[in-house]
Amino acid sequence: MSTPRAFVTRTLLPEALDVIREVADVTVWPEETPPSVEDLRRHAGDSEGILTTIMDRVDGDLLDAAPRLRAISQLAVGLDNVDVAEATRRGIPVGYTPGVLAKSTADLAMALLLGAARRTSESERWLRGGGWQIQFHPTHWLGQDVHEACLGIVGLGQIGREIAKRAGGFDMDIVYHSRTRYPDAEAVYGLRYAEFNDVLAQADFVVLSVPLTPQTHHLISGPQLAMMKPSAILINVSRGPVVDPAALYEALRDGQIARAALDVTSPEPIALDDPLLTLDSLVITPHIGSAALPTRLNTMKLAARNLVAGLKGEPMEACANVEAVG
Ligand code: NAP
Repeated sequence: MSTPRAFVTRTLLPEALDVIREVADVTVWPEETPPSVEDLRRHAGDSEGILTTIMDRVDGDLLDAAPRLRAISQLAVGLDNVDVAEATRRGIPVGYTPGVLAKSTADLAMALLLGAARRTSESERWLRGGGWQIQFHPTHWLGQDVHEACLGIVGLGQIGREIAKRAGGFDMDIVYHSRTRYPDAEAVYGLRYAEFNDVLAQADFVVLSVPLTPQTHHLISGPQLAMMKPSAILINVSRGPVVDPAALYEALRDGQIARAALDVTSPEPIALDDPLLTLDSLVITPHIGSAALPTRLNTMKLAARNLVAGLKGEPMEACANVEAVG
């Protein structure tokens, strides 16, 4: 049998690429920007396997153009850019990377939560701009306490649980809402379950850790922001479109909620003239939730192993559609 061809849509760390090179002829997209739809179609059309990131749209049109494809491996846990049902219909397994990046993403969620509560970015900008003229002033830069505050987690999956674990260390009172209720996690992490609207109404901090699906698109919009406390802080580490950005801008501008912290935006990258960026009450990072070196390397290696398994016709370590290969 001839050596299979694999297309990797972004440069990976060498240790991960080596894993694929052991079994396949690998073409790596060399540019910083993602391949265009046409480029992706051309390379996938020539390949038995593709390794994709969240920027690459894998839909029926792409699969039509790639009749030899027998493995898709996504370098992410979120699969909102991949039509998994369409891949399943064609018998193509879709690998993804659950678990390995949950701790790092939870770390960043806590960094954003703490940064927004204690106004770290805002006060640093003030300092660098020459604002720090008085050594100490008892009424300056008052933020919010994190310890013993109420944390609302929306989406109690791998990331949500890691956030709960960390919040326990801050003595937070944790309430959650998720598609499924998890009594085991409630017992382990001391969580209370509540309906979605009740989480919004009770929490001092609301963290979003759901996948982007038709059900979670604009899960947080005007009516939900109106249910939150005026002192509340919203943190989004899931996907940008889970929050309606226009409604968030209005809620922050009008003081309906106190602050927000976003690792993900809609669109990405956020436009520099987006009104959200005019607000000091917004903390923002450029989708770096899992961008810590050991985690990223482990994520890349898992994606590489998934691709190799798919190319060999073996079960993937983490497959989103095991039913595809019967
Ligand atoms: P996960 O383990 O699948 O957890 C997602 C949780 O959300 C599950 O508990 C799920 O419920 C729940 N859920 C799904 N739909 C819901 C809905 N409509 N309402 C309420 N809860 C719902 O995934 P994860 O590893 O925690 O990751 C979550 C998401 O974070 C990913 O899909 C990805 O988009 C995003 N992410 C972002 C970064 C970043 O860099 N910022 C990094 C990694 C992941 P069930 O338990 O019933 O399935």
